[in-house]
Formats: sequence, C-alpha cells, structure tokens
Amino acid sequence: LRVETEHPYTVHIGQGAVKLLVKHYRDLLAAADQVVVIADSQVAELHLPQLLGALEDFQPKVFRVPAGEGAKSAESFMDCHSFLLSENCSRNTVILAFGGGAVGDLAGFVASTFMRGVPFIQVPTTILAHDSAVGGKTAINHPLGKNMIGTFYQPRAVIYDSDFLQTLPENEIRSGMAEVIKHAFISNEGWLDELMAYQDFSTMSGQELEGHLEKGIAVKSAIVEEDEFEGGVRKFLNFGHTLAHAIEAHLGYGKLTHGEAVVLGMAYALELSESPELPRFLNWTKVNGYPITLLVNMPFDELLPYMKKDKKSTAAALNFVLLGAVGRPYIETIPEQRAQAAYDKLRKTIK
Ligand code: NAD
Ligand code: ZN
Repeated sequence: LRVETEHPYTVHIGQGAVKLLVKHYRDLLAAADQVVVIADSQVAELHLPQLLGALEDFQPKVFRVPAGEGAKSAESFMDCHSFLLSENCSRNTVILAFGGGAVGDLAGFVASTFMRGVPFIQVPTTILAHDSAVGGKTAINHPLGKNMIGTFYQPRAVIYDSDFLQTLPENEIRSGMAEVIKHAFISNEGWLDELMAYQDFSTMSGQELEGHLEKGIAVKSAIVEEDEFEGGVRKFLNFGHTLAHAIEAHLGYGKLTHGEAVVLGMAYALELSESPELPRFLNWTKVNGYPITLLVNMPFDELLPYMKKDKKSTAAALNFVLLGAVGRPYIETIPEQRAQAAYDKLRKTIK
C-alpha cells in the first residue's frame, strides 16, 4: 500500500512483516550511523526480541518510554533527545517507533525535531495504529491540552506486523475497531455492513482483521493524499471526535480508551445527522461491549466547554462532521441549543 504524500512511502501489512525491514529498507538502515528504536516499555517486554531479530545486522539501540499515553509527555520527549545525544546520534540516525499510537506520535515528533529532522519508520503494534501510523501527524501533550505540540512529518515506511496484535487486551481491540468502523462510516456501506455483523471481535480471524486494516489504511491514506495538511477533507477523519475529545478531557485521559470515546462520539454524530444507521450502531456498540451507557450520566453542560475548545469549533456554534449517508461525510455548524437537544434525545434512547 503506497501513500502518495509530498514524501511518499509504503505501508507493509501482514504476518511477519518485520522481516521486510531488511528486505526493503536495507539501504536506508545501512546508511545510518545508528539505528534507534523508541519503544513502548510494555510492547518491548512482549515483542522486542522479534524486532531485534529482524534488525540483527544493524545493532540498534533501544530506548524505552512509558507505556501508552504516558509516552507523550514533554519529559519523555526530552528524555528521548537526551538519549540520542548521549549516544552521539546525528542527522544520519534512523529512528524506529515501536508501539501503539502513543509511541508513534512521540517518536515521530522526536524524529521531526532531532537535528531538524531524521528519517523514521513506524512499527505499529495496535489496531488503532492503522490510523495513527499513517498520515504524518506527530504530537506530544501539553498539560493544557492533548496533542497541542506537534508537527506534520511523514514516516519513511510503516511496517505493520499482525503477529504483534495477538497480545492486545480486549479494550484495546475495541479501541482500534472503533477507528476501523469510523473509516467505514465515512467511505463504504458494504464494508460497514461487514463490520456491523460482528457480535464479538474474538471471532474475527487474523486474515479478516488484516483485510479490515488494509481497507482502513486505504481510506485514511486517500484522504491524506488529497489534503495532507488538513485544510479540507482531512477533517472528515474527525467523525465522532468532537464529542470524543470532550469526553476524554472531561473524564480524564486514560479512563476510556480513545476508540471507546470515539464510539460514543459517533453515536452522537449519527443522532445529529438524523441517520437511519443509529439503532443498528447502538446495538453493535452494546453487543461488542462499548461503554455507551456512560453518556446517560454525563450532562451536556459539562462537555460543552471542551467541545468549544475543539480545534474545529468557533465561539458560539459547534462544528461537527455529520453523515449525509454512509460514505458521505460533511461538516456542519450547529447552534448550541440544537446540539443539546440532540444530545438529550440520544441519552433517552440509550437509557
Ligand atoms: P497506546 O499507544 O496508548 O497503547 C495502548 C496500550 O496498549 C498501552 O498500554 C500499550 O503498552 C499497549 N500495547 C500496545 N501494543 C500492544 C500489544 N501488541 N500487545 C499488548 N499491549 C500493547 O494506544 P493506541 O490506541 O495505539 O494510540 C492512542 C494514541 O494515538 C493517542 O495518543 C492518540 O492521540 C494517538 N492518535 C494519533 C493519530 C495520528 O494521526 N497521529 C490518530 C489517532 C490516534
Ligand atoms: Zn481518533
């Protein structure tokens, strides 16, 4: 799968894909004075030997960062730079990101800033990372807001080895599948039907999952190719995210996984869209164990300030990505009152 951004690159998906690192990127790695892996500590515990085995010829240095969202702090950003400097890394160093979206965002930001930019390769290990590893958004968090400090910086390659996904806990599977179904909602009805048929993700075969990840990446990369720097259609990828970001900020990050929050946000976006898909989607969220009933005890007033802070919103009204039909997203500015009425209607339906 090729992503044709200003600097194009390839996404390799499949079992044993890490072996392709040496097959396709030997020149890049061999030309580097050092190869540095920035690894999620939990992922390192589980899967580092497999990655190091594939990189044997290059004797990479490994720097472990806190697992998950904790990786995206200013402190761990500085720690990465300290490590690179203490190892005498240079402009010729190649960085690999090994972990989920959190480490991908951090390592991408480190790579884009170290010596004004060194090449980096994404080696994602979560389902959600089919989204985050493609498209070139990098970031760390500021105490005043998530993803507030970052860059657009494309990786040289994405090596997506499905073997790593086998150790994902259930809530991370749910989280990743949420972004998969988001990609289906904004693109393709037939594919959405397939996904809606799942009553239990554990019945999904490895091959099926790979197929869904490929489709999701195809949707994401087509949009990114058209609008790399989010002037227009890239905003459609925020379907479900206006409310999701508010819920995450309101509850405190880490209470819910990102994708779980996005599922709540998509239900709300479907309600605002008066979409006939809503009942089927609500049923899907219940059978697959998404915590949709959390909305019942979350008053609109508490979420509103966060929605107003959303990068896509202005002062008096809120901007949402809505759905004309499956595959037909559009942006609409909605007055507060209407936003509140739809929210309360959704809560009643869920109750
Ligand atoms: P994550 O990176 O926070 O990882 C979640 C948890 O799963 C962590 O505890 C991690 O240690 C563990 N884990 C990772 N891989 C594992 C594996 N194979 N087996 C067992 N455990 C594993 O979560 P995520 O959902 O991948 O990423 C979320 C982050 O991605 C957020 O910070 C979000 O802002 C970012 N994001 C970025 C973009 C983008 O375009 N850059 C898009 C979407 C999300
Ligand atoms: Zn998201």
